[in-house]
Amino acid sequence: MADLHTIRREIRISALCGRQIAEHLVSGLPYETCGVLRGKAAAGGMRIDAFAPIRNVAPDPLHHFVLNPAEWIRECLRGEGLIGLFHSHPSSPPVPSGEDLRQLPLFAGMFRVYLIGSPGGAGSETALNGYFIDKDAGDRYHLLPAAVRHG
Ligand SMILES: [Zn+2]
Repeated sequence: MADLHTIRREIRISALCGRQIAEHLVSGLPYETCGVLRGKAAAGGMRIDAFAPIRNVAPDPLHHFVLNPAEWIRECLRGEGLIGLFHSHPSSPPVPSGEDLRQLPLFAGMFRVYLIGSPGGAGSETALNGYFIDKDAGDRYHLLPAAVRHG
């Protein structure tokens, strides 16, 4: 994972996948939405080719997300390429919350990419921030900001 510190700082999202994420985010408003991302390492970073929505079963979905366990397991069993987690912040900026950071150890060992989206204002596009999940020498996980590119 040491290479994450140097050159692997770009997350490229296919156009179709970007649209699917944006549509899922909007369809779930005003609640948080979530899902998983499939893809692979690519020159200079990671490439995301597929998005699978997973129902948010949090008791308070306005401000939290919990992956539906059955759907989550099904995605895990579909095999290789599972590289990332997505969730939305319907009414706050797409940056990790304190709750996100507390939950990170639950997912961090399985994923390398972490995406957060927020709805755009009137007429503007979904805002999407991307992070690489990194683990330090003390086994603590961190989110390193990445450049998100579309296409
Ligand atoms: Zn969050």
